[in-house]
Amino acid sequence: MALRLKPFRNEPHLDFSKPENVRKQRKAIEEVRKQLGQEYPNLIDGKEVYNREKLPSFNPAHPHEVIGVFQKATQRDAERALQAAWRAFEEWKRVPAEERAQYLLKAAQEMRRRRLELNAWMICEVGKNYAEADADTCEAIDFLEYYAREAIRYAQPQPVTPVPGERNEYFYIPLGAGVIIPPWNFPLAILTGMTSAAIAAGNTVVVKPSSESPMMGWLLADIFRSVGLPDGVLNLVIGSGSNIGDFLVAHPRTRFIAFTGSMEVGLHIHELAAKRQPGQLWIKRTILEMGGKDAIIVDSEADLDAAVQGVVVSAYGYQGQKCSACSRAIVDKAVYEEFLHRLKPAVHALRIGDPADNFDVGPVISERAKESILSYIAIGKKEAKLFLGGNPVGDLDGHYIEPTVFVNVPPRARIAQEEIFGPVLAVIKANSFVDALRIANGTIYGLTGSVYSRNPDKLRMAREEFHVGNLYFNRKCTGALVGGHPFGGFNMSGTDSKAGGPDYLLLFLQGKSVSEKLT
Ligand code: NAD
Repeated sequence: MALRLKPFRNEPHLDFSKPENVRKQRKAIEEVRKQLGQEYPNLIDGKEVYNREKLPSFNPAHPHEVIGVFQKATQRDAERALQAAWRAFEEWKRVPAEERAQYLLKAAQEMRRRRLELNAWMICEVGKNYAEADADTCEAIDFLEYYAREAIRYAQPQPVTPVPGERNEYFYIPLGAGVIIPPWNFPLAILTGMTSAAIAAGNTVVVKPSSESPMMGWLLADIFRSVGLPDGVLNLVIGSGSNIGDFLVAHPRTRFIAFTGSMEVGLHIHELAAKRQPGQLWIKRTILEMGGKDAIIVDSEADLDAAVQGVVVSAYGYQGQKCSACSRAIVDKAVYEEFLHRLKPAVHALRIGDPADNFDVGPVISERAKESILSYIAIGKKEAKLFLGGNPVGDLDGHYIEPTVFVNVPPRARIAQEEIFGPVLAVIKANSFVDALRIANGTIYGLTGSVYSRNPDKLRMAREEFHVGNLYFNRKCTGALVGGHPFGGFNMSGTDSKAGGPDYLLLFLQGKSVSEKLT
């Protein structure tokens, strides 16, 4: 019987201005805290695999607190996982799309049931506050619901032009076994999105989560296992990118790689995957979503209060650790001083502290990230004027850095060009709207951007000239929604794969044309 599905709708976010929701989330964190430090296996061909070498995951707000202990996969494990994925593919590719979609829908249901628990693990493992964690979980649910529907849509016969004397067909088949390499910053959403798209399309996968967020990798594998996904369709191997990541990317039997992460690693994967290995039968497909240096333009005709609010949320939400974060505010000289005047109290109002207590700004992901961000702050002090922040937060246990603002930043300064991935904003003065657009486009990236202006002609101009994959008007430049804002960037921001959009599943499929001569 045909599966009847309601049209896709985004999962509503929890409202944490309501005390009862805060109470429930806090309770879930307490429950999760009772389970800290437990050991979790890798999952290969449905079997739990333990190794001698371990990989612990730490809480960035309390760096000595162990979230969980994971198995450091070897290349042998990665090899076994890939072989298992190919074995499972022989069955999985024949499973009808509607049936595959059911697994995603059941996983979405399971995520809804475990939502506060998933949020709690995320809060503890990567330092998101309640709203950021809940938005991440909702996005993961959205991806499952959206790609389930997309799998069914792509399974329909595709239109072909009639040719006299022939019966012609065009349809899509999956690629094979591939590798999923997600980042830690949307540790459930992006992991779930890339994984579920691949398997909904009929592929099988080896998932290698970021070593900063292995717990989220385990939780996703556990959820798919709990809804009965056949063994070998999703294999989980936790380990270092440079070891098993490279091994899997270079492997001659890897058919595709879905990666989201930094430009450096993305380009490395692109190069490695492009090199044909002995015995390799195909050109590997790579789907690479990378970094950003996103800008918000504040025009002379902007609503300044709205612009300040949009800049602050986009720059410091999740400590600026989003590919879509606003790291440049490009402000027309006519409103520059007034913008700074209003920005100051808005940044000062941000409360810094433990995400488990739901502070606005929490820790950055690791000591290494903290050092890297502080080194950019040191560079910024030479290139521009430090306006606000600029220091580590000494009296807190975790990897905290104050929300930082540099002003009078030259557009070509390193802090205006390179992705810092932390709570650091560069404010740049523009001579005109055209100048602001030129500055905004003047980096190697092209992911998100926003324009605050009341002038429709300027917005029209930005629509054509602002070269980013996700452009927003009179709103923040973060928070893309599945379905509503297909997501992905231009230039060195990646392959513009448009996750959560109608073209995404196609990246995991190949078209087949069959033509029969009628006698
Ligand atoms: P990262 O590049 O350090 O790591 C991403 C993943 O690649 C991790 O799983 C890591 O273990 C793996 N990896 C590292 N070296 C590897 C190698 N040699 N071979 C194979 N795999 C390897 O990025 P990150 O710190 O996890 O995430 C932050 C970055 O991700 C930022 O640059 C951010 O802009 C970007 N990002 C982009 C998007 C997007 O949609 N464009 C979304 C989120 C994050």
